Amino acid sequence: MRKVLIVGAGQSGLQLALSLLAHDYDVTVMSARTPDEIRSGKVMSTQCMFHSALQHERDHKLNLWEEETVKVEGLGVSIAGPDSSRVLDWFGPLEHYAQSVDQRVKMAAWLELVEDRGGKVVIHGVTTSDLAPLAKLYDLVVIAAGKGELVQLFDRIPERSPYTEPQRALSLAYVHGLERRPEHPDKAAVRFNIIPGVGELFMIPAYTLSGNCDILFFEGVPGGPLDCWDDRPSPQQHLDRILSLMKQFLPWEYERSRNAVLTDDKATLAGGYTPVVRNAVGKLGSGTAVLGMADVVVANDPITGQGSNNASHCAASYLDSILERGDKPFDEEWMTASFEKYWEYAQHVTTWTNAMLQPPPPHVLQIIGAAGENPAVAKRFANGFSDPTDFQHWFLDPVKAEKYLAEA
Ligand SMILES: Cc1cc2nc3c(=O)[nH]c(=O)nc-3n(C[C@H](O)[C@H](O)[C@H](O)COP(=O)(O)OP(=O)(O)OC[C@H]3O[C@@H](n4cnc5c(N)ncnc54)[C@H](O)[C@@H]3O)c2cc1C
Repeated sequence: MRKVLIVGAGQSGLQLALSLLAHDYDVTVMSARTPDEIRSGKVMSTQCMFHSALQHERDHKLNLWEEETVKVEGLGVSIAGPDSSRVLDWFGPLEHYAQSVDQRVKMAAWLELVEDRGGKVVIHGVTTSDLAPLAKLYDLVVIAAGKGELVQLFDRIPERSPYTEPQRALSLAYVHGLERRPEHPDKAAVRFNIIPGVGELFMIPAYTLSGNCDILFFEGVPGGPLDCWDDRPSPQQHLDRILSLMKQFLPWEYERSRNAVLTDDKATLAGGYTPVVRNAVGKLGSGTAVLGMADVVVANDPITGQGSNNASHCAASYLDSILERGDKPFDEEWMTASFEKYWEYAQHVTTWTNAMLQPPPPHVLQIIGAAGENPAVAKRFANGFSDPTDFQHWFLDPVKAEKYLAEA
C-alpha cells in the first residue's frame, strides 16, 4: 500500500486525503489544528464553490451539506456611479447552482472523516525542519498548507506572477438578517457590486455553524477608502464599519442589510495577500522533493472567488496523476508533470483573475454593459465562474469580445 503524507487540512489536502483513502492508499494528514479548534476559530474564506468543483466533492461523497446549504442560482452585477447611484444592474443565471459551506464546518468534519475512513491524523504545526526526517517514511509528501510559512519551500515563478504586492485589502463579515434583493426575491445569488476605483463588494449566500447566512465581503483597492482595517476593529465594530461603507458607496445593498447581525463572535476577517504562482517541487535540506498543492503553488486574489474551486480541481487532478502513476516512484519529473497538468486548467483562472484586478479595459466595459441588455451575455459571464477556461474565448481578448458581441 503506497504511503502518502499530506501536510495541511484545508480544501485541497482533505479532499485529496479522502479521495486517496477511497482508493486504499495509506494516508496521513498533518493539521495545525484539531477539528474543534477549527470549528471554534475564525472564519477563513467565503469559499463559494461552483458546479464543476462541487461535482468533485459529490464524486467522493464529500458534499455533506448539499441539502441544507442555500443554493446559489445566479450572479448579479451592479456598478455604482460617483454619486453612489446604481448605474447598472443585471442578473445572470447559473446553469447549476453554487454553494458556500463555511470552511470551519467543512474542514472540521472532513478531518474527522479522514479518521473515520481509515486515515491517520496528526495534530502538529509542521516546520520545514520537521519535514526531512518525516519525508523518508512516505512514498509521497504533498504540501497543502495554504498560504502558511511552508510556501517558502517553493520558488516563486516571476513569469507567471505579475504582482509583487497585494492588489486588494480584504474584509468580510458573516451575518444573519439580510433581506433578499427586491428585484429577485425568490433567487439566492452572489451579488458582485463594483465601485470603480474603490473596490468591490460581494454578497454571498452561505451556510455556517448556525445555518444559512450571508457574507458581506469587501475587496478594497489599496490606499483607498475600503483599505481601513489596520486598526483591527472588534467584530461588532468591523460589521458596523462594513455597513457604514455600504451605506456610503452602495446604498441599495445597505437598505437590505441594515438589520444584519454577526453569526458569531469569530465571523469577521481582514487581510490581504499577493497573488503568486510557485514552482510545484520543493526541496528539503535532505534533497528529498515534496509536491506543492493548491494555494501553495497557485494563489489568486479572491476577486473571482476561485481559490477553493481551484483547490478542489487541483486535488482531483493530483488524484488522477497519483492513480495513473501506479507503483512507479513519485519523483521530481512526475511532480512537475502533475502540476503542469493541473496548470493547463489553473492558468486560465490566474489570467482571468489577474485581469479582473485591473481597471476594466473598454471591451470589458462593453461586455458588462451589453449583459444588461442581453441575457445571453449575462448568462455566459455567470457560468464562467464554474468554467473559467471559457473567458479566453470571448472576455479576455478585445477582438474576440467584439466578434462575440456582434453575434450574441
Ligand atoms: C477573504 C477570502 C475570501 C475567499 N473567497 C473565496 C471564494 O468565495 N471562493 C473560493 O473558491 N475561494 C475563496 N477564497 C480562497 C480559498 O479560501 C482558498 O484558496 C482555499 O481555501 C485554498 O485551499 P488550500 O487547500 O490550498 O489551503 P487552505 O484551505 O488554506 O488550507 C491550508 C491548511 O493548512 C494548514 N496549515 C498551514 N500551515 C501548516 C503547517 N505548517 N502545518 C500544518 N498545517 C498547516 C492550515 O491551518 C489550513 O488548515 C477566499 C480566500 C480569502 C482569504
